[in-house]
Amino acid sequence: IIEVKNLKKAYGENVVLKDISFTVKKSEKVVLIGPSGGGKSTLLRCLNRLEDFSGQVIFENQDLSAASKEKLRALRQKMGMVFQQFNLFPHKTVLENITFAPIKLKISSLQAAQKKALDLLEQVGLKNKANAYPQSLSGGQQQRVAIARALAMDPEVMLFDEPTSALDPEMVGDVLQVMEKLATEGMTMIIVTHEMGFAQEVADKVIFMDQGQIADSGSPAYIFKETANPRTKEFISKVM
Ligand code: ATP
Ligand code: MG
Repeated sequence: IIEVKNLKKAYGENVVLKDISFTVKKSEKVVLIGPSGGGKSTLLRCLNRLEDFSGQVIFENQDLSAASKEKLRALRQKMGMVFQQFNLFPHKTVLENITFAPIKLKISSLQAAQKKALDLLEQVGLKNKANAYPQSLSGGQQQRVAIARALAMDPEVMLFDEPTSALDPEMVGDVLQVMEKLATEGMTMIIVTHEMGFAQEVADKVIFMDQGQIADSGSPAYIFKETANPRTKEFISKVM
């Protein structure tokens, strides 16, 4: 569903991504791990061309790097993105946050969007918060709303950038549980996380990024146990 070919990205002199290639198949869960500054967030942002880059990102057989503005907009709608900071609209209710994009983009009617939003809120365990405002929710609840908001667009792929790292520890589990459910339902997911337990359980493939390169990749069993790569081993031993 996504093919990344020889992706490179620099900020001025600073080469942040140095020739990244990998593929993600439909329903696959790919977890990106690695030290701070290694380029994980930048890579995610290149995948939906929030950043310009050289090389190719092919999404559903279409080259994002060559796509026109309109084409790009359509392709982006199929990629849900969830960030560390939830970025909910503070002056809209939970329900309005979720229905905003589908209504604005005329993807669904008000009624259909609201019905769907309530279904999604039920899935993330927050149906009773439909009329609440974001600031009255805990971080974990806000993040689950952010996930529901992304899902309201019926994405083909969900991109997560450290969705739990801004949360108090007791909130992390609820958010991971929602993500695990999505995973078992067959969603294609690319996830940057420091939650190694989650990575081991959910990932089909783990990519270890270091200094702008894919330093190592493979199954969770390979990355967490079998690899002979000294950088991977050092990183894993620090974070586990
Ligand atoms: P972390 O685990 O801390 O989130 P990361 O792996 O996500 O790290 P990135 O945020 O992708 O790393 O950053 C990779 C490199 O790119 C860093 O050297 C960073 O300073 C640089 N960088 C990121 N965004 C920008 C930007 N907008 N302008 C200039 N340099 C940037
Ligand atoms: Mg990052």
